[in-house]
Amino acid sequence: MTTVAIIGLGNMGSGMADNLVKGNFDVTAFDLSEAALDKAKEFGCKVASSAVDAVKGAEIVVTMLPASKHVHDIYANQILANVDKNTLLIDCSTIDVGTAKAVSELAESHGLKMLDAPVSGGTAAAAAGTLTFMVGGSDAGFATLQPLFEIMGNKAVHCGDAGAGQAVKICNNMILGVTMIATCESIALGDKLGVDRQKLFDVLSTSSGASWTVNSYFPAPDIGPKSPADNNYIPGFAAEMMVKDLGLAQAAAEDADADTPMGAAALALYKIFVEDEDGLGRDFSAMLPRFSGRGRH
Ligand code: NAD
Repeated sequence: MTTVAIIGLGNMGSGMADNLVKGNFDVTAFDLSEAALDKAKEFGCKVASSAVDAVKGAEIVVTMLPASKHVHDIYANQILANVDKNTLLIDCSTIDVGTAKAVSELAESHGLKMLDAPVSGGTAAAAAGTLTFMVGGSDAGFATLQPLFEIMGNKAVHCGDAGAGQAVKICNNMILGVTMIATCESIALGDKLGVDRQKLFDVLSTSSGASWTVNSYFPAPDIGPKSPADNNYIPGFAAEMMVKDLGLAQAAAEDADADTPMGAAALALYKIFVEDEDGLGRDFSAMLPRFSGRGRH
């Protein structure tokens, strides 16, 4: 049995760990949250009392953490000095390209191989084992970790060298942020025009307005597939996570001198939603009640 340590068992990591257990891996979990560890125990993970304990002796280490600083801190201060020399490291968090490259170089300086492998698909895909992985790093690392990608996802694309997975991820999430806003403002407009939301969904989902946010994550309750809208907008994918990802995309665009006006507009709106309104702690699809409650001025 291959031993896997997984660190970060939140909305995404818990589903991934569950699938690794079901896939017959020997999984040890660590999270700062006791509640997350209790849940991990329920689906058959061993739990460790620290990140250092979790990674000792593991053949593969998976991290699924909130943001760049968590990833850098845990690899630099806890993981790299405490794993075996042939341990493979894989970070699935969404972080900035620069940190992904820096942590990978740090791993290399310890003689270790590391992949950045952020995911797309959301919590439902994490639970169902149908994530898409966007992978940066060596050919050999990508090939060795195929069995893991197959259990936790249904597609893994090797995007290039270290950092390339994160680059593709922020391009993807810039589209996601923009299309969620477009979807929500369209539904709110439809409401004001007296259109039935179910009829709107029936047309949009099979017309040129179709998108992942319409077809797989329709932001109105009781319409389309189950989504956080059916659960009072409990995340899911939190609005503040979208602010993070859109911020990463704008920082990368600034560095690369890319013109991204829609990404910039989406970031500005999500920031207002999270920092000045009631978006903090709500799913990013809660943009719909935000628009519904407003007029033009
Ligand atoms: P989350 O906040 O639900 O989970 C993160 C977990 O990490 C928490 O349980 C937290 O306690 C734990 N954690 C933080 N610091 C830690 C540390 N030092 N040691 C151990 N555990 C620690 O977040 P999430 O929604 O699961 O997202 C995780 C990552 O996946 C993020 O980078 C996010 O951008 C990305 N992502 C999320 C989604 C989504 O739909 N939620 C989709 C794709 C990608």
